[in-house]
Amino acid sequence: MCIFCKIISGEIPSEKVHEDNLCVAFKDIHPKAPLHLLVVPKEHIPKVSDLREGEHDHLIGHMVNIANKLATDMEGYRLQFNVGEKGGQEVFHVHMHVMGW
Ligand code: AMP
Ligand code: ZN
Repeated sequence: MCIFCKIISGEIPSEKVHEDNLCVAFKDIHPKAPLHLLVVPKEHIPKVSDLREGEHDHLIGHMVNIANKLATDMEGYRLQFNVGEKGGQEVFHVHMHVMGW
C-alpha cells in the first residue's frame, strides 16, 4: 500500500482537516507556505495523467471545491499538481497541493 493509502486508512497518522466519501485533506508534513494542505482522492490513482476524461472529471472539480473551502481565510493561494518525477512528484498517489498565504 502506498503512503497516502496508509494515511487514508489511518495506518499512518496525519493531521486530517477534511474527509468525505471521495477525498481526504491533511497537512503537508514539510509545509512550504503558512497553509500547506494536500487534497487526496481515496481511490489510488498514481498520477494526474492517469485520470480519464469523462470518468474522473467530477473528482477534480470536487478537489477544487474542497481546496476553496479550506483556504477561504487566506489572502491568496496556489493549487498545484506535480506530475511525474521530472515534474517534482515524489508520492505516486494523486494529490493537489494547497499552499496559502
Ligand atoms: P509531491 O512532491 O507533489 O509528490 O508531494 C508530496 C508531498 O507529500 C510533499 O510535499 C511531502 O512533504 C508530503 N508528505 C510526504 N509524506 C507525508 C506524510 N506522511 N504526511 C504528510 N505529508 C507528507
Ligand atoms: Zn495510494
